[in-house]
Amino acid sequence: MKVLVTGGMGYIGSHTCVQMIEAGIEPIIIDNLCNAKEMVLDRIEMISGVAPAFYHGDIRDESVLDSIFTEHDIKAVIHFAGLKAVGESVAKPLEYYDNNVNGSLVLARSMRKAGVKNIIFSSSATVYGDPASVPITESFPTGATTNPYGRSKYMVEECLSDLFTSDPSWSITLLRYFNPVGAHPTGLMGEDPQGIPNNLMPYIAQVAVGRREKLSVYGNDYPTPDGTGVRDYIHVMDLADGHLAALTHVGLKSGLHIYNLGTGKGSSVLDMVEAFSQACGKGVAYEICPRRAGDIAECWANTEKAERELGWKATRSVKEMTEDTWRWQVANPQGY
Ligand code: NAD
Ligand code: UDP
Repeated sequence: MKVLVTGGMGYIGSHTCVQMIEAGIEPIIIDNLCNAKEMVLDRIEMISGVAPAFYHGDIRDESVLDSIFTEHDIKAVIHFAGLKAVGESVAKPLEYYDNNVNGSLVLARSMRKAGVKNIIFSSSATVYGDPASVPITESFPTGATTNPYGRSKYMVEECLSDLFTSDPSWSITLLRYFNPVGAHPTGLMGEDPQGIPNNLMPYIAQVAVGRREKLSVYGNDYPTPDGTGVRDYIHVMDLADGHLAALTHVGLKSGLHIYNLGTGKGSSVLDMVEAFSQACGKGVAYEICPRRAGDIAECWANTEKAERELGWKATRSVKEMTEDTWRWQVANPQGY
């Protein structure tokens, strides 16, 4: 079975492609390489033994999408392509809405033309905003987002939901990721942020490898056990497997399917610093700084729905997340 993977050269997409190939599914990748390197394709091949078909193109280019659907008998689309830096989205809202929202609309239109009506969309726990309680279930209210990136994810969810209402023969799966971290256990693939990392785990990894002096811990006065923010970190390999489970169980069945992909467990910033220190065998320098604007105190998933309906559950521990990240970081100190 052929599946179009938009943004398949990126962090989550590349790991998902490897797991797809191992499961006998053929990924066809489109990526404009705005946040990825072509070398990722070699790494996918080194791990899986297969170099997927790759189109260097933009999802906003409808003619490219149309020609891919003509050339290949594609059964479904996993849609990762998008911009994802929260801070940058505040500075460049038009670029974010154009890439993430308009890009998704162009994709859906091309899919409709081609008669391909199965899409799995990379959404985010950010659509829940600041939740009234934890753990978060899929029925919690969405939309109280605090930045253009989060709003773009919410808008695409709404657009795809409206599309389903207009034509219930679509299969639309919205996967709300919690905090993806970790790397492929071979150390050949991992997260390769350009410039200064915005996210916790790549920042810690760069401090540990000597690229940055120390981590800024954004606030230790939250109402959490140690005062630092608590998140649901999920290993990128578990996340990749979650996409396969979604594809297998609901991805080809008509319906609007919504799932949290998380572990159901929260870890604080200092928990992650400590786990990483264990993994790399040395301390990770940090200093306590003021809170970062827009951050919430705590956020973790209720994972029962995915477990029940997709037969999927995250199995990899924080120890594996930090050890695999460290292996990737040491082998690739400057990224790809
Ligand atoms: P990433 O930046 O590593 O991957 C996205 C890929 O999409 C990149 O390879 C980029 O070059 C490509 N791309 C971007 N715009 C494109 C366009 N217009 N046309 C073609 N290709 C384009 O990011 P990721 O961490 O792998 O995230 C994948 C998806 O998951 C994104 O939609 C992101 O918003 C979502 N998500 C990520 C996280 C996270 O923390 N990493 C959390 C929740 C949701
Ligand atoms: N964080 C931090 N220092 C950093 C980056 C992040 O203390 O350099 C904290 C952040 O305040 C939050 C947690 O780490 O509590 C996870 O942040 P990240 O940006 O990775 O993900 P988010 O949950 O914000 O999407």
